[in-house]
Amino acid sequence: MDEIRNDDNKKETRNTRQKKLIIDCLNKYGSNHMTVEEIFNLIQQQDTQISIATVYRNLRLLEEQGLVNKVFVADDATAYYEIKDAASSHSHHHLICRQCGAIIDFEDDLLEALEKMITLTKGFQVQDHHVAFYGICRDCTEKNKAAQDAVEKPAPDEARQ
Ligand SMILES: [Zn+2]
Ligand SMILES: [Zn+2]
Ligand SMILES: [Zn+2]
Repeated sequence: MDEIRNDDNKKETRNTRQKKLIIDCLNKYGSNHMTVEEIFNLIQQQDTQISIATVYRNLRLLEEQGLVNKVFVADDATAYYEIKDAASSHSHHHLICRQCGAIIDFEDDLLEALEKMITLTKGFQVQDHHVAFYGICRDCTEKNKAAQDAVEKPAPDEARQ
């Protein structure tokens, strides 16, 4: 990862510094897709003056600048944020677990073919698309299976009692 070291931090305005704290925080932990509260709690350790309203405002600005992506989760009112992939004009898609709420990145995108088909059949020029997949994640599936197995086959010492 390229990191621009700026030793002349004094020149940075407070606003720039706050934005940098948010970007650093998302770069470090953002693969989990962070809520505003989570970002705020971590940044507060480095900047005790910062308020949650300031974090909100800066996230909105960063989103407008195309540096941060707000993750769309249909049946969850909470906003989740992540670093936007600069290399691509559109973000990856998400797999959302209905059991534990995990948000998993999904990089493969076969939708360009569908976009081409839409243009061909409908004459509609698609500029972007918005997709989320809802279901049960691998961890939850394994946990559910283990729980099911435990019900079906009680442990031998348990059965003896
Ligand atoms: Zn899950
Ligand atoms: Zn993501
Ligand atoms: Zn896509």
